[in-house]
Amino acid sequence: MDLYEFQAKQLFAKHGVKTQVGEVVTTPATAQAAAEKFGGLVVVKAQVKVGGRGKAGGVKLAKTPQEAAERASDILKLNIKGHQVRQVLVTPAEDIAKEFYVSFLLDRSNRTFLAMASVEGGVEIEEVAATNPDALAKIPISASTGVTKEVAFKIAQAAKFPSEIQNQVVEMLQAMWKVFVAEDATLVEVNPLVLTPSGQVVALDGKVSLDDNAAFRQADHAALVDKSIEDPLEAAAKEKDLNYVKLTGEVGIIGNGAGLVMSTLDVVAYAGEEFGGMKPANFLDIGGGASAEVMANGLNIILSDPAVRSVFVNVFGGITACDAVANGIVQAVDLLTKQGKSISVPLVVRLDGNNAEAGRKILSDAAISGIHMAKTMDEGARLVAQLAAGK
Ligand code: GDP
Ligand code: MN
Repeated sequence: MDLYEFQAKQLFAKHGVKTQVGEVVTTPATAQAAAEKFGGLVVVKAQVKVGGRGKAGGVKLAKTPQEAAERASDILKLNIKGHQVRQVLVTPAEDIAKEFYVSFLLDRSNRTFLAMASVEGGVEIEEVAATNPDALAKIPISASTGVTKEVAFKIAQAAKFPSEIQNQVVEMLQAMWKVFVAEDATLVEVNPLVLTPSGQVVALDGKVSLDDNAAFRQADHAALVDKSIEDPLEAAAKEKDLNYVKLTGEVGIIGNGAGLVMSTLDVVAYAGEEFGGMKPANFLDIGGGASAEVMANGLNIILSDPAVRSVFVNVFGGITACDAVANGIVQAVDLLTKQGKSISVPLVVRLDGNNAEAGRKILSDAAISGIHMAKTMDEGARLVAQLAAGK
């Protein structure tokens, strides 16, 4: 989960990263009140989970509270790269002598953590990496050693931070690493890290991504989820512990095992080309032990998607044999019918693997209207795309 800047800064403050937390508001009037409270020059910043807000007009200085209200009013109308601005952060403005860049991230390809730092901050770091790669220091961080004082100095020196501020930068780097570890982050980035004319080093911006896999031990993180921008179907699926991702097409997909579901998406998209470009409407992996309840929850979510015109249940019986899955489907349909939710679109079921014959027999004996059987994945994909197209 990516955080908003104001949330990142709250975590910064909690772990000793020097920054102005400010106040997040949703109206010009409350922006004005916040500016009045801070007094003096303030900065009004769009809170959207996308970079380059400054360039898009989403970061503005304001000399008076009245001006803060006007800037907030302008910024709250912006849509930055498809993200509607709904809230702005108001903070006391900093004077800037110099802008730097620092980050810690999970470096998947090298199976380690990585520190990146540059004295060419403020601009997009991809640009620095492309045009002036020598100006971007990259130091791998061992998970067991972490960012000790020595490691932090190594980063500061590699990036050529001025010697008179190296102690402050080291403190900053160690505090940022504390955020990274304590919050189970995969990214902690500050761009720009600024040096003020009075010689203070402060984080002016903050970007944090949290590792959702650590949610079980980060109870506080649930409160950071912005429900207003979450897809309602994905939110409902998350509540039921389903691996569901909403996509843009018309064919609902259920499978067991992430690999099988991924290839089902491909096969359905390919088959759909013949029928006016029918595409998968979702990814849903119901995992190994496809119980009736899990099947019912999955079907329920998929059938609640108004874009869905047909559903492909593609199951390979392994540890859970096909007869158990078939019983699951029959019971799921039963469950849904009892809840008053009719199976409103055709279902194509392909069962293969362990006890496939027995599974198919259970389904044909149940004779549920709207359920079609397919012998192979390709046949199923073609049929389900055809049904979605209404042909
Ligand atoms: P981004 O464009 O989304 O990365 O947003 P930033 O928070 O990094 O702000 C963009 C730019 O606005 C910074 O690089 C600064 O140059 C400027 N800026 C942001 N906050 C302040 C501030 O408090 N004072 C001054 N003088 N400039 C600021
Ligand atoms: Mn920035």
